[in-house]
Amino acid sequence: MIGELHKAGEAGLLFEPTAKPVPAEERARLLIDPGFGRVFTDHMAIIEYDEEKDWHGARITARHPFTMDPASPVLHYAQEIFEGMKAYRRPNGGAALFRPDANARRFAKSAIRMAMPPLPEDMFLESVRALVRADREWIPDTEDGSLYLRPFMIANGSFLGMRPSTQFIYAVIASSVGAYFRNDSPSVSLWVTREYVRAARGGTGEAKCGGNYAGSLVAQAEALRQGCDQVVFLDAVERRWVEELGGMNVFFLFSDGSIQTPPLDGTILHGVTRDSLLTLARDMGLAVREEPYSIEQWKADAESGRLTEAFACGTAAVVTPIGSVKEADGTFTIGGQSMGPLTARLRSALVDIQRGSAPDPYGWTE
Ligand code: PMP
Repeated sequence: MIGELHKAGEAGLLFEPTAKPVPAEERARLLIDPGFGRVFTDHMAIIEYDEEKDWHGARITARHPFTMDPASPVLHYAQEIFEGMKAYRRPNGGAALFRPDANARRFAKSAIRMAMPPLPEDMFLESVRALVRADREWIPDTEDGSLYLRPFMIANGSFLGMRPSTQFIYAVIASSVGAYFRNDSPSVSLWVTREYVRAARGGTGEAKCGGNYAGSLVAQAEALRQGCDQVVFLDAVERRWVEELGGMNVFFLFSDGSIQTPPLDGTILHGVTRDSLLTLARDMGLAVREEPYSIEQWKADAESGRLTEAFACGTAAVVTPIGSVKEADGTFTIGGQSMGPLTARLRSALVDIQRGSAPDPYGWTE
C-alpha cells in the first residue's frame, strides 16, 4: 500500500508541489465521468539523463508542457518508449499499484531495444509511487475508476544524425480514468486486417515504443470504418496466425474448459494482464495453452461451438469479451452477446485482487 506523501528529497525525488492545484470542487466534477486519458492530475515525475551526469534531477513537479529543440531526435526518429499501469483506490481509502515491478522490467527491456539507457527499476518504481502519493485524490471513487499512469522516455537533444541520442527525458504523467470502452454493448467487435501487419520477428513488436502504435493507427481507422471497435493483427509471414489487438492481448476459451493465447514469440507485447490471467487460470486448475491459433481455426471453432468465449485483455481494457469478428468475406460471432461465465470468473479473480476486495496470494499489489 502506498503510504503518505514523503517529505521533500526522500526516496531521491524532490517534491515541488504545484502552486496552482485544480480546486477540489473542479476535480470532483472532472472525476464524475472521466472517460479514458482526458483528465490529467496536478503533478508529473521527471528524471533526466545525459551521458556525463547519468540519471539526475529526479523530481515531482507541477504538470507542465515541455520545451524542446525542433531537432530533438524523438521528433524525427521516434526514439521513444512508454508504459501503462494503474493505481487503484483500496477499500480503506488508500491506493495500490498492480505489479509495477513487471512494468519496470518491461520498460527497461523496451529501452534496450530502442538503444536508450535502461532506467534503473528502483527509480521507475519510486517515481511512480511518488506521483501516486502526490495525486492520490485524483483516483476516481467509482466501480471502474483508477489512476492510469503513463511513464515514458523520449530522446532529447539537437542533431539530425542517424544515431542514438545521448540525452533523454523520463517522465510520468497520470490520468483519472473510467472504463476504456464506452459503447453500451458488453462486448467488442473486431476487424481482421489483411492489409496491415503490426510486427515481424526481429522488429519492435515486443517493445512498447510509440512507433508500433503510430503504425497501427491506420489499421484501427480501417476497423472503425468497418463498424468495428478494434483491429486484430495477424502474423507478418503467413498472415494467418492471430497475434494481438492494437493495444490488447487475446484469449480463447473452449467448451472443454481449456484456454489458449498466442505465444510470446517476439512479435507481441508481453502483457502484464495476460501473464496475470495465465497464472490465475493455471491456479484455478484450467488447462492453459500458449500456442498459435489461426484465424481459420477461430472461425471454424466459433461456428462449431468448440470456442465458447473469447476476450481481449490489457491494463486499460481489463478483460473485455469479444462478441464478433469481421473479415472481408463475412462476420462470425462468439457465444452470446454478454460476458461468458469463464471470462467473468477470470475477470473477477483479477479485478478483486487489483481493487483489494480479495486476498492477494501472489504479492501483486503494493
Ligand atoms: N498489447 C499491446 C500492443 C498493448 O499496447 C498492451 C497495453 N500495454 C497490451 C497488449 C496489454 O498489456 P498490459 O496487460 O501490460 O497492459
